[in-house]
Amino acid sequence: MIAHNLGYPRIGSHRELKRACEQFWAGNIDVNQLEATGREIRRTNWLTQHAAGIARIPCNDFSFYDQVLDMCLTTGAIPKRFTPLAERPQTGALDLYFAMARGYQQQGFDLKAMEMTKWFDTNYHYLVPEFTADQSFSLTSETIFNEFIEAQGIVGTAAKPVLLGPVSFLLLGKEKEAGFDRLDLLDRLLPVYEQILIRLQALGADWIQFDEPVLSLDLTTKQQAAIQQVYGWFHEQFPAINVLLASYFECYGANLETVLALPVSAIHLDLVRCPSQLDDILKTDFAQQQTQLSLGVVDGRNVWLNDLANAQQLIQRAVDALGKDRILVAPSCSLLHVPCDLDAETNIDPEVRQWLAFAKQKLAEVSTLVTLFAHPDDAAALAVLARNKQLIANRRQAARIHKPAVKERVANLTAADAARNSPFSVRQPVQAQALDLPLYPTTTIGSFPQTESVRSYRAKRKKGQIPVAEYDAFIETETEAAIRWQEEIGLDVLVHGEFERNDMVEYFGELLDGFIFSENGWVQSYGSRCVKPPIIYGDVERPAPMTVRWSAYAQSLTPKPVKGMLTGPVTILQWSFVRDDQPRRDTCLQIALAIRDEVVDLEAAGINVIQIDEPAIREGLPLRRENREAYLTWAVEAFRVSASGVQDHTQIHTHMCYSEFNDIIEHIARMDADVITIETSRSQMELLDAFAAFNYPNEIGPGVYDIHSPRVPTVAEMVELLQKASGVLPARNIWVNPDCGLKTRRWPETKQALINMVQAARSVRETV
Ligand code: GLN
Ligand code: ZN
Repeated sequence: MIAHNLGYPRIGSHRELKRACEQFWAGNIDVNQLEATGREIRRTNWLTQHAAGIARIPCNDFSFYDQVLDMCLTTGAIPKRFTPLAERPQTGALDLYFAMARGYQQQGFDLKAMEMTKWFDTNYHYLVPEFTADQSFSLTSETIFNEFIEAQGIVGTAAKPVLLGPVSFLLLGKEKEAGFDRLDLLDRLLPVYEQILIRLQALGADWIQFDEPVLSLDLTTKQQAAIQQVYGWFHEQFPAINVLLASYFECYGANLETVLALPVSAIHLDLVRCPSQLDDILKTDFAQQQTQLSLGVVDGRNVWLNDLANAQQLIQRAVDALGKDRILVAPSCSLLHVPCDLDAETNIDPEVRQWLAFAKQKLAEVSTLVTLFAHPDDAAALAVLARNKQLIANRRQAARIHKPAVKERVANLTAADAARNSPFSVRQPVQAQALDLPLYPTTTIGSFPQTESVRSYRAKRKKGQIPVAEYDAFIETETEAAIRWQEEIGLDVLVHGEFERNDMVEYFGELLDGFIFSENGWVQSYGSRCVKPPIIYGDVERPAPMTVRWSAYAQSLTPKPVKGMLTGPVTILQWSFVRDDQPRRDTCLQIALAIRDEVVDLEAAGINVIQIDEPAIREGLPLRRENREAYLTWAVEAFRVSASGVQDHTQIHTHMCYSEFNDIIEHIARMDADVITIETSRSQMELLDAFAAFNYPNEIGPGVYDIHSPRVPTVAEMVELLQKASGVLPARNIWVNPDCGLKTRRWPETKQALINMVQAARSVRETV
């Protein structure tokens, strides 16, 4: 039995990679210094894994930006717009690489970055390969080989190259023109993989890990056949190379039969997401084959201590059927998705800390499990197991996790709690009368520019460097200025500006019971950008109102309606590390009840319009179609619970961005928000088609300008978008607003853009 690992976080336990990349981009360090940081992170990672007893250690899992982008460069899949840059003699390999990742606007070039999208159901973003009908591929990078040699120098024969498999590489990409199927490029792509394998074999690789995470999706017969073709061909060409095929985040599902028939040496199973898969496999004639199983029993997507006894049982079942020699033990997926090292935390709550494991600690868990089978008398491993059982038992009973009153409240929820008093058709006229808004009412999504001084006040407050009263006074001044300015330009529904918030989830997490925050628990989101998700460890409760003070203050300044601003339960859930000891649904409903209480308090404080942001509803969608209905059912229920405690006259808004709605429109409609604001400007209102086709009954604010760019939109272009929207939706249902919050923008462009937006709304009103 062997301990192995699929991938390790590459940002460094103190975000060394982030710092080095940003220094390099700013021109403060040169390419050699950046390379040196990369080398040092890789060396530390390999040594850490080696010391933990991992016998097959991934290499080529490092990346300066993204592993899919790396594969584009390795295979020469470089979009044509970058050719002039690439051909300049002074362009270094990393210059081209970062230009593809981030765009390039220098020295007469204006090259758009490659598109970025979420990696399966994680919060990691990869760069989307761009393919054309005449696409050619060629081996254009030595990185894989260099890193393998480097790893061998440090951990010897334990080094195992990791490659994104060709089918996933193609399917994760996009056709940039019509008329061909990117999967048909396989025959052109495979010779590059062949060259890679020849070189790796010559360098002494006997095991290679191929990641084909598309196997966790619903695949067509053609796609399954491509998997068969590729791995059959590898086996014929390279019988001496042992292929470990890895997919994760889901069961193999309908792809299982294809996978089991592949001539590979080992198959990895994500037994955290899909424990039943083991029995499904053992039921077949798998025992009669030679193929090994890699059991992913340690959760690579979450931060909780592994239940070793439980993992032991799973492993034992496999051992009984296959024997120890055919078993590898591993985390469920690459550890890229968890923070690096719990040891780097100096201040985290000591009780909760004992229940946590970050990447480094997870390696130790994998290794302990193997030791427990290889040397059942090993005293150290037995001591770890005993302590683990104790901690798991403590966590099961801990008073600070389990609050009977909270659980009871969720258990007692009824259909009435998830429904407004009256249907929308009744609420709409009541709200119209109460709010007295013009047609095409204007509003914004919540946040206003977070200037340097706003951020520095918040930081000082956090460090306790200024008195609370001074901080509060500062936030009030900023809020008042924002209110005055919104009145002046004539917006209809105002916002307080969110100056007191660092982040839309962290702000609420800090005010709710059941959350803790790490200091260093960073996870790569994309490139140099890292996020530090809150950790939901226990039953969630709201000890006191969270936003009422700021919203009520803002409302006291103006006769115009001020919109209360909350983050929705699904988004809070989705952007946190969630406890694994109860269904996600239950945790979500607990959060929903906390938000509901806040909504009710806002209403009582005289706030008549309340927005509950749910930008993450779509991204929580399970990878497999068959699981989506169940998720959407509880996600929508959670939103409705949060929104339904108010009277008919109170107008509930929600906001979503980065979403497509076609396949979930009926569920969006079931959320029954009085108004939904969405990002549409980049798609030129195309996203509205789903709403129109569905005859979506409630009000909609299609974003009329892209807030991701400092560019100021003209009145005319926004009028045009509004006319387009009016072509597909009834005018009385249309709101006018930007695509999203404005916190990353600066005031000058924000002011001009909103002045133009109000002007656009006015001129459209005149035409009806
Ligand atoms: N209210 C939030 C803001 O304006 C919404 C952010 C989001 O949708 N991502 O910043
Ligand atoms: Zn948004």
